[in-house]
Amino acid sequence: MKISLKITHLKQKISSLSDYNQSSRVHSLRSFGSNCFVKRDDELGFGISGSKLRKYVSLIPHLKQKKIQEAVVIGSSYSNNVLGLSQLLIEQSIKPTLFLLGDGTSEKIGNYLLTSLFVPESSIHWVPREEWPQVESLAEKYAKPRGAFVIPEGALMPEAFPGAITLPLDILRNEENLGLSFSHIFTEAGSGLTAIATILTLAYLEKQTCVHVFLLADDKDIFISKLQNFKRHFERLTSQDLEWEEVGKRFQLHIPITAKSFGSVNKTIMQQVAEIARAEGFLTDPIYSAKLFLEARRIIKEQGLNGNNLIVHSGGGLTLMGFQDQLVGF
Ligand SMILES: *Cc1c(COP(=O)(O)O)cnc(C)c1O
Repeated sequence: MKISLKITHLKQKISSLSDYNQSSRVHSLRSFGSNCFVKRDDELGFGISGSKLRKYVSLIPHLKQKKIQEAVVIGSSYSNNVLGLSQLLIEQSIKPTLFLLGDGTSEKIGNYLLTSLFVPESSIHWVPREEWPQVESLAEKYAKPRGAFVIPEGALMPEAFPGAITLPLDILRNEENLGLSFSHIFTEAGSGLTAIATILTLAYLEKQTCVHVFLLADDKDIFISKLQNFKRHFERLTSQDLEWEEVGKRFQLHIPITAKSFGSVNKTIMQQVAEIARAEGFLTDPIYSAKLFLEARRIIKEQGLNGNNLIVHSGGGLTLMGFQDQLVGF
């Protein structure tokens, strides 16, 4: 099948699902060298991170189609997914019930403060860290008698996968508009779904692009097993087999060298937030995007990458609200 037919085929399966904003621009970066560009998925919305909004493109229609009236959302109290999904669930008259990590003593700042504007305390169930490995079965136990629908951490689920595929499709549109093609794409992985959707779509389209994935939460083995799992979903979606070899040559996994553990920040990261703001004119959050830009800059230099490089800014800017003290003084 020709690439344009394949794209049409994929789009038919996905983009008609909802009318959420699915297209964002790409522009050149000022401080990364002349061949570096940024994809502004942060501009997809104010209250919802770009990469999350894309997942909801298919997840929300699925909930509507199943006539779901209550959804259980699992995550940390500062999660972008919990905050974003709560908004769209309310809009759709679906009651959000949250299963959050902790004992209810999380400081009410940043995303948790905002989430608490959307969801009353009576709809929040706290799950202590010792029980967190069983959180999905606890949520299912709560949900089953109520006919509620459980959404796992980071919305890592097949129902969100078609929506995540709108990112690589939109990058193809950017390439066409700009008349160039990207040799390297940089993205960060939390649950991994966004990166996985990008890798599989590029492999399916046989594009000569390498996706550099910065693993912020998982180790390499876990990411690979998720990728293999979603490869099967992708094959089902497109009714076409994908060779693992084709997938394998389209990505590199990287572990951040500073503030390695998920959610951790340090002065270098905070400084990066300020540097990017001054040099590039946009905000980055310290949990995801500032780490991505810092590490991408390092990899581009270390590997001497001189094709066109695209760094995907997935949004998450509201997180900055929780770090005001640490941003003073730059
Ligand atoms: C959730 C999130 C990610 C991670 O996306 P996954 O699909 O879970 O890997 C990256 N950046 C931002 C800003 C996010 O909100």
